[in-house]
Amino acid sequence: PVDATASATGVAVALHGVTKRFPGPKGAEAVTAVDAIDLDIADGEFFSLLGPSGCGKTTTLRMIAGFEYPTAGSIRIFGDEVGLLPPNRRPVNTVFQSYALFPHLSVAQNIAFGLEMQKVDKREVRQRVAEVIELVQLQGRESRRPKQLSGGQQQRVALARALVNHPKVLLLDEPLGALDLKLRQAMQLELKQLQERVGITFVYVTHDQEEALTMSDRIAVMDGGRLLQVGAPTEIYDRPRTRFVADFIGDTNLMPATVVDTDTVRLVDGTPVRVASGRPEGATCTLAIRPEQIGLRSPEHDRDPALDAVHGRVQRVTFLGNATSYEVVADGDADLHVRVRQGNAPGIEHFAVGDRVRVRWLPASATVLED
Ligand code: ATP
Repeated sequence: PVDATASATGVAVALHGVTKRFPGPKGAEAVTAVDAIDLDIADGEFFSLLGPSGCGKTTTLRMIAGFEYPTAGSIRIFGDEVGLLPPNRRPVNTVFQSYALFPHLSVAQNIAFGLEMQKVDKREVRQRVAEVIELVQLQGRESRRPKQLSGGQQQRVALARALVNHPKVLLLDEPLGALDLKLRQAMQLELKQLQERVGITFVYVTHDQEEALTMSDRIAVMDGGRLLQVGAPTEIYDRPRTRFVADFIGDTNLMPATVVDTDTVRLVDGTPVRVASGRPEGATCTLAIRPEQIGLRSPEHDRDPALDAVHGRVQRVTFLGNATSYEVVADGDADLHVRVRQGNAPGIEHFAVGDRVRVRWLPASATVLED
């Protein structure tokens, strides 16, 4: 319900200078798992922390949850400092990859458990349990035991158990990690729709870039305890700022270049390329272009002044069903990966190994990376 960068509705989670250091094993240096991060997550956002194993995403989530306390910095949830409060005194709930359901309790009992511990009135418990069962679409399965449910249904019980507490923020730590690919993809859509229905802020940890791109309003890409880039999925995908982000999110072509002026760089073979360089003249940089942003043409084809291009030779052709993947060695020696739609749609040419080609793209689809 909230647009990608909206802050008009307020900030749900604010991290300022948050650092977490763990003592190293005997005598070894301390590990800085999270390194002075600043981050505002808007109310109602589906926000993902994305990065490779060990980047600090889980530790960040656990600090928001209250399972870890920051070594330094402040954590606010809807304006209240919570950095040193225990989990049960924060308006959040966490869903883990291991659903941690009680095997001897029914679906309804699993969901009701937390409320009963808090001595919530029996009628209210029944009503709230029924509400969330409907929300996660488990009607008719209230009296089953967890082992009588599929993996996806168990995950929904875990979600219902968290949502029944009416958290202001739901924290999810790789909640779909245990599911097979098909089910995971179905659950991604379901989770996104669920988040839209309940309208609360979701903070989602994943190492799966596709998952993050599919579900999130915004993504923070992490590495080495730092936030490398925060933005909407299209922003992160189309305008990666660093080589790490470009590589981690999808496939990308990298070409070494030298800055000519604010909107031109020159490739190794001398070809000028139009792109916002953001660097002083003469600086070396890396030009990045996604494989699907590139088109191939025969060299004798009319030159289109609206496009930038290099020449090269086709090295390998791979049929992918709905697309064809080409590896092209450019004259400047860069290996380029090009993905072209399959079929006879107008404007699509197909090539064979050894063919000379013009490799071309719209200037707006190229980016200069910070090294
Ligand atoms: P994964 O996806 O593998 O869980 P992650 O990106 O979530 O990785 P974290 O679990 O946050 O990363 O870990 C970040 C760093 O902190 C790692 O180097 C990890 O070994 C270290 N670390 C995490 N928890 C502890 C702990 N309790 N004691 C010591 N070191 C820890």
